[in-house]
Amino acid sequence: MKITRITAYQVDLPLHEGRYSWSGGKSVDVFDSTVVRIETDEGIVGHGEVCPLGPAYLPSYAAGARTGIAAIAPDLIGADPTQLDVVNALMDRALKGHPYAKSPIDMACWDILGQVSGLPVSTLLGGTFGDDFVLYRAISQRPPQEMVDNVATYRDQGYRRFQLKVGGDPDTDIERIRAVGTTMNTGEKLIADANTGWLMHEAARVVRAVDDVDVYIEQPCLSYDECLSIRRRTSHPFVMDETIDGLDALMRGHADDAMDVVNIKISKFGGLTKARQARDLCASLGIAMTIEDSWGGDITTAAISHLAHSTPTELLFTATDFNSYVTVSIADGAPQRDNGRMASSNQPGLGITPIPGVLGEPVFTTSI
Ligand code: MG
Repeated sequence: MKITRITAYQVDLPLHEGRYSWSGGKSVDVFDSTVVRIETDEGIVGHGEVCPLGPAYLPSYAAGARTGIAAIAPDLIGADPTQLDVVNALMDRALKGHPYAKSPIDMACWDILGQVSGLPVSTLLGGTFGDDFVLYRAISQRPPQEMVDNVATYRDQGYRRFQLKVGGDPDTDIERIRAVGTTMNTGEKLIADANTGWLMHEAARVVRAVDDVDVYIEQPCLSYDECLSIRRRTSHPFVMDETIDGLDALMRGHADDAMDVVNIKISKFGGLTKARQARDLCASLGIAMTIEDSWGGDITTAAISHLAHSTPTELLFTATDFNSYVTVSIADGAPQRDNGRMASSNQPGLGITPIPGVLGEPVFTTSI
């Protein structure tokens, strides 16, 4: 089988809540997502998606994703999309770094491999654990009482894990964590995600001020070393996210006992192939995981669902259903949240079919 054509599309994904806000006053109103379509000489077509959380979250941005895909695509024409490690080697040879640009291509090749083999991607990733898996809800940064109210709203929808977006003014963040913390019920979990937003002295104050609250602390500071310093000053369970972007960082984090949970975003690692490698390493080391991406719509959510559902249940801390946050559906067959939980499709590949017309005109096409 050979890749004959690679096409990229741009899709706007507005939010049901209108705006998503996180640390340092950063926010996004409409997500700029990119869908990749890979065609083959045997008529099988695969799809992938990448959607950075704006240009100021990770070192990635939407136009960069599309430029990167366009740079890589000529080197993949004629390659066998079912040979995932070979495809990844070709991408790494064509473009150094830029894992987010490679992620939707890798995702689309997994979609093709699943269709060729007649198996869902979750089976190819190791098989599904249980009937479904647990989701968290990200609670956009707002005044403390609004965040309390939003947690209540999403609890009514079935969520039992809530990730508060903090990393703002430390005194207000202490209020946010304490106010929501008092509303938690048995069996629920609360995560305070600062998204790199605190300086060390601020993070040190916050973790001490909420010492009696049952809360996980996620990525308090910008650098790995700053986070490790805070990790060593607190007894709260600790999540590393933005600074863990590959196996080197993951192995260093394990050696330093830097975290209890790691956040594996598919595009941060460069696609399902590399995210699975990190997932399997974490599983062997006993490190729990949040499995998600930097945002996206139906196709990203489908990819997340296959990786999350094929992760041992006790090691999957949470996953995300991004397609329920946005107002536009781009594909049929995508998994849908049910009472705070989700299951991957049992159809071959990712199990999705883009809805005709939603993707619009291609941004570019590369073909033989
Ligand atoms: Mg995070």
